[in-house]
Amino acid sequence: MNIILFGPPGAGKGTQAQFIVKKHNYFQLSTGNLLRNEVKLNTSLGSKIEQLISDGNFVSDDIVNTLLKQSITNLKFRDRIIFDGYPRNVEQAINLELILNEFKQTIGHTIFLNVSRDIIEKRIMGRMTCEKCNMTLNEHFNKEQIELHPCGVEYLKRRKDDNLKVVIARYDTYMKATNPVLDFYSKNSNFTEIDGAEEIDQINNKINDILKV
Ligand code: AMP
Repeated sequence: MNIILFGPPGAGKGTQAQFIVKKHNYFQLSTGNLLRNEVKLNTSLGSKIEQLISDGNFVSDDIVNTLLKQSITNLKFRDRIIFDGYPRNVEQAINLELILNEFKQTIGHTIFLNVSRDIIEKRIMGRMTCEKCNMTLNEHFNKEQIELHPCGVEYLKRRKDDNLKVVIARYDTYMKATNPVLDFYSKNSNFTEIDGAEEIDQINNKINDILKV
């Protein structure tokens, strides 16, 4: 079964996805990572994507849906995908349902990490992401882990869109376009809301309990 990790930017979706990948042998499908990889290719599509991301705007559904479909249809990931950062609007939620139906896959759990805007700001402003392994750490809370990071501390970089102005824009976009997607999933019995302000380990334990069911 596939899993949707849902929540505002900075809710901890990426961090929790990495735990699920390790413990339960899943594949993290982060549309943000797919798009950033496209930017690294230095194509004209990549530079369009870069501009949208650095302004805190969404990349078009067409582009994101094409990248997404490539992963969903990859047999290696079949029914073992964690959707992180997708769907981000109601159209994407409908698209996901259509693709999964077409390829006879399902969503086993939708987990909503609910976090307030002030906590998000603090978390994102300290965030560092490894360019090699995509691990996310926080310069205020993970000082030791940063120094000991196995890829080397030089690979830990701040994302360009992790600045206050863009964080506020991303949060506003989330409230306008993404929050309505909750109506799409919250009525299902496999929907669970978790307080995303809790400690990382506590959240991880709750997710492990959910995945046992
Ligand atoms: P994230 O890594 O999930 O924080 O995403 C970073 C940025 O990538 C977002 O602020 C958007 O600009 C873009 N992005 C990621 N996922 C999507 C999506 N599903 N639809 C549109 N844009 C996206």
